[in-house]
Amino acid sequence: MEELIAQCGLNCAICEAFIATKNNDESKKIEIAENWNKIYNHKFSAEDINCVGCRMEGAHIGYCTKCEVRKCGISKNVENCAFCNDYPDCKTLNNFFKMIPQNGAEKLKETLDKIKNEKS
Ligand code: SF4
Ligand code: SF4
Repeated sequence: MEELIAQCGLNCAICEAFIATKNNDESKKIEIAENWNKIYNHKFSAEDINCVGCRMEGAHIGYCTKCEVRKCGISKNVENCAFCNDYPDCKTLNNFFKMIPQNGAEKLKETLDKIKNEKS
């Protein structure tokens, strides 16, 4: 399966919003917005469901538009946090991990650790 690893370790390539944006699939965006309204405490419209992927220039969704991890990675010019000398003891990244569900954070850490191990 294609991988497009975001700054935080998320695989953008399997995100339904990324796929709908890539395919320009308006009916899928409506469906995603309706689902996300039920899952998250936020009102999404189909127009909000536009994302070109974490490290790309262009549209991003909600939190990702102001994400400190993304901003930091871009300023340091690292492919993702696994390539940064401050990983894993980074306050910015660990504060982000504290904000998301624990099983989600564990998955992102696993991905970043795997990349770090593979490149060393
Ligand atoms: S913008 Fe932030 S939260 Fe969103 S995928 Fe990128 S690093 Fe992760
Ligand atoms: S300092 Fe932290 S948030 Fe920034 S690139 Fe390095 S590990 Fe990621």
